[in-house]
Amino acid sequence: MRIDIVTIFPDYFAPLQLSLIGKAIADGRLDVRVHDLRDWTHDRHRTVDDTPYGGGAGMVMKPEPWGEALDALLGGYVEQQPGADPPEGPAKRPVLIVPTPSGYLFNQSMAVEFAAEPTLAFACGRYEGIDRRVVEWAADHFDVREVSLGDYVLNGGEVAVLAMVEAIGRLIPGVIGNPESLVQESHSDAADGLLEYPVYTKPATWRGLAVPEVLLSGHHGRVAQWRGQRSVEITRDRRPDLLQ
Ligand code: SAM
Repeated sequence: MRIDIVTIFPDYFAPLQLSLIGKAIADGRLDVRVHDLRDWTHDRHRTVDDTPYGGGAGMVMKPEPWGEALDALLGGYVEQQPGADPPEGPAKRPVLIVPTPSGYLFNQSMAVEFAAEPTLAFACGRYEGIDRRVVEWAADHFDVREVSLGDYVLNGGEVAVLAMVEAIGRLIPGVIGNPESLVQESHSDAADGLLEYPVYTKPATWRGLAVPEVLLSGHHGRVAQWRGQRSVEITRDRRPDLLQ
């Protein structure tokens, strides 16, 4: 999968070189390209923001650098797949994910959906966000998805994009060594969307706390039953909305 990230803070993405995502990049399973939005500015100060029309606090990201950045991404996709349109019509539009607190809430099924895409582009907002016309224009060229990481406000889209790239990237075949570990996780279909049961490892007793007896029994049926019950209890307690 190819991932393009446009940001005014390219250094934010250094952690992607670490751990399993870093290994996936080194192995060529993930091709992550981080672009500095300021490369598409043309003034001495490399300006990407301006005051909001209608007044109010804060600054808004200017449309011109974003327009040129998105043009460049579209040009890059064409170069990557020259003449890739299937005979029955134009190729599917590339996905552009725009992180915003007013977006649709990011969740595991979105991660699964995005993990099946050949390319993903991310547009990291800053200040009060990006001039609305950028998203309107982009909708003619990309499958634009406005996505929120949660019901709180971050300073910029970079942290949201790091979280999404990790959630999506780990679902790409070969990124996680043992694909079985993806099956029974919190929010997965196999777990009926429930939260995961508690997990334990050796020693069997630590600081006077014993591992639940059933997990030492070697009885797979009883272990599965115990885990299922704990999943339901934890989900009912912390996220009753998921039980619906
Ligand atoms: N004025 C905006 C509002 O009230 O909706 C908040 C702008 S926020 C300070 C700047 C940028 O951070 C946003 O454009 C977006 O890229 C990112 N951001 C902030 N909170 C986010 C969240 N919960 N999910 C995804 N992105 C977020």
